[in-house]
Amino acid sequence: MVGKSYTRIKKEKVKEILDLLEEMYPEAGCALEHANIFQLLIATVLSAQTTDKSVNRVTGELFSRYPDASRLAQADRSDVERIIRTIGMFKTKAGNIIGLSKILARQYEGIVPGDYSTLITLPGVGRKTANVVLSVGFGQQRIAVDTHVFRVANRIGLADGKDVLETEEALMKNIPENRWIQTHHSLIFHGRNLCTARNPKCEACLIRSHCRHYNAMKERGYRKNGI
Ligand code: SF4
Repeated sequence: MVGKSYTRIKKEKVKEILDLLEEMYPEAGCALEHANIFQLLIATVLSAQTTDKSVNRVTGELFSRYPDASRLAQADRSDVERIIRTIGMFKTKAGNIIGLSKILARQYEGIVPGDYSTLITLPGVGRKTANVVLSVGFGQQRIAVDTHVFRVANRIGLADGKDVLETEEALMKNIPENRWIQTHHSLIFHGRNLCTARNPKCEACLIRSHCRHYNAMKERGYRKNGI
């Protein structure tokens, strides 16, 4: 099978972009509150298609009642649904987090496995969730592509992927491996703060001179104005 060929960006340009992103967001990191890897896994499953803030509002009570896999495995589903009812798809997510806790308690002594191929077999755990758990929880260099990473990376030109998988592969090709974890967090912070889905605040953005989207917009503006 012939794989997609990705646009490679010059190493120096990538370095400048990543340095600027880190300068803009030195505090960038996982915003999901958790005390251990199990809680990180649960919070990440709950965060699918909802904000980290709304997850943090429910995990305080959830983790105080069900702090580990063995206790969540035995939870009454209606009680879990009651606690997480303010987040999207709460019924499905309640089933998933109880289901994955049962598997962890039964097969892994309640310990979250640190390998991708096992993680993605757990209910509610897909590519993005597994990568977040492996990078934040286990310190492995991974790039988890969520909605912010997808949008921002493709706007800047660090990737040219039409979907999450292509974007992840392009980022892994263009970005040095030792910067994958931090880049994932920086891109999320940038997507939340300046490079928002609607009306990105390009004039306040330090990387605009490197940004494919910004330069294309500028070019279009020049043409429109006959410059
Ligand atoms: S210049 Fe605009 S589109 Fe480009 S990264 Fe910055 S905010 Fe996003």
